[in-house]
Amino acid sequence: MQAVPLTRIDEEKNWQTILAEAVRDGHELLRLLQLEHSELAGQLGGDGDFPVLVPRPFVALMQQGDVRDPLLRQVLGQQEENRQVPGYVTDPLGEQPANVRPGVVHKYHGRVLLIAAGGCAVNCRYCFRRHFPYADNRVGRKQWQEALEYVAADASISEVILSGGDPLLLDDAALARLCGQIADIGHVRRLRIHTRVPVVIPQRLTPALTGMLADSCLQATVVLHVNHPAEIGHELVRRLEPMRRQGVTLLNQSVLLQGVNDDPEVLCQLSEALFAAGVLPYYLHRLDRVQGAHHFALPDERVGELYRYMKEHLPGYLLPRLVCEEAGQPHKTLLMV
Ligand SMILES: *Cc1c(COP(=O)(O)O)cnc(C)c1O
Ligand code: SF4
Repeated sequence: MQAVPLTRIDEEKNWQTILAEAVRDGHELLRLLQLEHSELAGQLGGDGDFPVLVPRPFVALMQQGDVRDPLLRQVLGQQEENRQVPGYVTDPLGEQPANVRPGVVHKYHGRVLLIAAGGCAVNCRYCFRRHFPYADNRVGRKQWQEALEYVAADASISEVILSGGDPLLLDDAALARLCGQIADIGHVRRLRIHTRVPVVIPQRLTPALTGMLADSCLQATVVLHVNHPAEIGHELVRRLEPMRRQGVTLLNQSVLLQGVNDDPEVLCQLSEALFAAGVLPYYLHRLDRVQGAHHFALPDERVGELYRYMKEHLPGYLLPRLVCEEAGQPHKTLLMV
């Protein structure tokens, strides 16, 4: 099996061009991986409101000819998603009640989440935000203003988390403007960016972005979302290095996914590969029960087995906290297994 030879071309392009050229069709994705005649071709489908979207640098990390590629499984829309399964709902986290202003989710003490951008660079099939009403949370200048006023009015908020969608779909100038405005709020000391864009388009980690985060008077953290060690390519490692060197804290969160990372060795390799890239594992999420994602769920006993293996094989600092979100709770729930 061979990786798709696309990376060399992509390095010369900017991230916006790479995003514009993302694969948006399941058949094309299968063709690129020489899987158009595999059993996957007959299973294509999925939610029309949540189309296939996958940038080519991420495709280049997949193995050609492998129907079980763990990266492919995360992004290929399948008919299975349309099956209604009891217990799987459209808003499993109860975020809509915590949506205190357009674009602001304030659930936890001291931290507020700003929906800084509506879309993502990749549509992950298991995503708990696939039914989120982004249209009602459109983030124009006016919404930012209202969101910032909300943060400014609550002195208990010491950390602003840019989330989405994916905040790194904003360009560097817009991000710099937003970060500057956040930094002007005296009681905010920390800025966090939750993003998956660098995993699928490492070119998004521009020197300008790195410089902006390093130079901000806010203490900056980037929380990546990597689920499998094969997602950590050379270009990502190369571009994370200057961020870390310039004092940006790098963390990762993962989701436990059937058919992707439900393997104890893979999970240990993920922690080690992250650390080798200067990134500390932060959270390991149990899958939220979102409609359309039931086929990624693991039985609780299996989750326990996997996590116990990690505890027994990893140093404590490479063990992510196993959590889930329960609607109405004031923090993420630590799972004891
Ligand atoms: C996960 C989450 C946070 C961040 O929680 P930490 O435990 O600080 O990482 C903040 N707000 C919301 C709404 C969240 O879902
Ligand atoms: S990048 Fe994150 S928010 Fe966007 S679809 Fe994937 S998991 Fe969901």
